[in-house]
Amino acid sequence: MAIESLQQRFTERLEQRRKQHLYRQRPLAFSPQQPLMKINGIDCVNFCSNDYLGLANHPQIKQRLITALQNSGISYGSGAAHLVTGHHLEHHLLEDELADWLGVERVLLFSTGFMANLAVLQTLAQKGDVILGDKLNHASLVDGALHSEADFKRYPHLDTQALEKRLQQAYQEQQQAIIVTDGVFSMDGDLAPLAKIQQLAKSYNAWTIIDDAHGFGPLGNKGRGTLNHFGLKADDNTVQIGTLGKAFGCSGAFVAGSNTVIEALIQFARPYIYTTASTQLNAVAVREALQIIQQADNERQQLHDLIQQFRDGAEAIGLQLWDSPTAIQPILLGDSSTALSWSEHLKQQGFWVAAIRPPTVPKGQARLRVTLSASHTSEQVQQLLAALKSCRQTECK
Ligand code: PMP
Repeated sequence: MAIESLQQRFTERLEQRRKQHLYRQRPLAFSPQQPLMKINGIDCVNFCSNDYLGLANHPQIKQRLITALQNSGISYGSGAAHLVTGHHLEHHLLEDELADWLGVERVLLFSTGFMANLAVLQTLAQKGDVILGDKLNHASLVDGALHSEADFKRYPHLDTQALEKRLQQAYQEQQQAIIVTDGVFSMDGDLAPLAKIQQLAKSYNAWTIIDDAHGFGPLGNKGRGTLNHFGLKADDNTVQIGTLGKAFGCSGAFVAGSNTVIEALIQFARPYIYTTASTQLNAVAVREALQIIQQADNERQQLHDLIQQFRDGAEAIGLQLWDSPTAIQPILLGDSSTALSWSEHLKQQGFWVAAIRPPTVPKGQARLRVTLSASHTSEQVQQLLAALKSCRQTECK
């Protein structure tokens, strides 16, 4: 076999990506995260952030950070992994406060949601088990399942009948089944049917893992997420994962579950053990964000109203929306070049809306992914709708 250079390996693949309109760019932000941003030098209204409650640039959190930095008990960096000397009192208090908020036994912090999902699946799922994952689960859940030693089967999106068939099969074969689902699906914005999933899990002695990255904060009483939104509670066989880079406006993630599950992660999860703890300052910021989130009923109502306004307006223009009650509102456009040209047209009118293309979404389902935040105004949503109408009229080709 001929030895190829690194250059050879990637030059052609990169070129192909470009030709297929799939090349990814990193927009450069010159301003804080907020609705009005300067991105790539352009002033625009940002409609693709996950900062659902407007906390990423919140004055109360900024002030708390300034005070914390002046406090001699806190450094910026964490210095080491949690099991070495990186586990600061701020991390510890935050874990307790998150557990109290959710009414679970324990919570464990992670540096990112991606790592939390890898850790949970690699550690909890073992050889002989079967992971049953929704087809549209986040990439980190897919990778976590692939890297575990368990079998991995996917069921069609939200299809609880198909899920039940796979559960029956696992039960007959005496395999431990582990149902894995997003709470709010990240590219579609729809909700997992958690009541039915919980009922199936009980009937077939399955465990349930819910990645609620987009549910904690905007959904549920005091922002307690999708399970709470449906009036459900986590039992000992349920594990929830939340991220802190979305509605919390910070970064990192947490896993919420029973004391035994959290101890198992601390002892056995390689993505937990062998990585530096997130900064002490991040823990300070998240603690403040958690206080704000619990009191943010007005912001949740504002977000809800903007979602309704957007959906009503988009339907009136004839845009193809998803059945999404959340801040994630995709507009289906089909091919990648159309999605890119709509995104570009919106940019020229001062709106930043990301075009989402394969492989992030299935082929033929390229879309604009509009995300709304409580920090948007009703006027901004109205202006976005007018710009989308002009896209539709010119078809942006
Ligand atoms: N799960 C879901 C559903 C997500 O949308 C994301 C972020 N896109 C993650 C996990 C990963 O979280 P993080 O960005 O903290 O790595």
